[in-house]
Amino acid sequence: MVRQVKQKPMNWVERLYVFEALRGLFTTLKHALRGLLRYETLPTVPYPEMKPEIPRNYRARHRLMLRPDGMPRCVACGMCAAACPAHCIYIEAAETEDPRIEKAPARFDIDHLVCVFCGLCVEACPVDALRMDTCETSYVHPKRDDFVAPMFDLMTWDPKTYPQNDSQSQMAPGGTLNQQALDAWGMKVN
Ligand code: SF4
Ligand code: SF4
Repeated sequence: MVRQVKQKPMNWVERLYVFEALRGLFTTLKHALRGLLRYETLPTVPYPEMKPEIPRNYRARHRLMLRPDGMPRCVACGMCAAACPAHCIYIEAAETEDPRIEKAPARFDIDHLVCVFCGLCVEACPVDALRMDTCETSYVHPKRDDFVAPMFDLMTWDPKTYPQNDSQSQMAPGGTLNQQALDAWGMKVN
């Protein structure tokens, strides 16, 4: 639908342009002086010296949730890869020894240089195995290949970032706390 914006006709002062140009310069000067004299009142953050606070529901780096035995909750159904508009999730399924679980990922990589952080993979996952609530928005690697996060990296997110009493971030469906799962797996991250 076309939306028409009604413009107010200029009065004779505005049509002279000189006063409007001076008003614009005054605004520029005001912001420049504020940056020099009252830096702390600016609505910007001096990144990277100061990191902005990332909301918990921000779509950041992915993590894979774990089962009580430490294995990924992922059942290698491929729905996240199918939903991904950037085609940057690479999954290889394998059989498991557990008769209750048909498949598990043998490989689960996400190329974070190709990812557009849309979150569709998280929405598509039927078992809540994939989340993007790590608040990790800035990571630097010397090589392009290093931006491909393998399954192990996606599974070993740091519990320090997620307090044990924060059930939203710690618990996968079924109530498994991440540290319990990692302990069962025989490794400690913190
Ligand atoms: S966030 Fe979007 S682009 Fe990135 S892996 Fe998920 S579906 Fe693909
Ligand atoms: S992360 Fe979820 S959607 Fe993706 S393959 Fe695993 S179970 Fe399926």
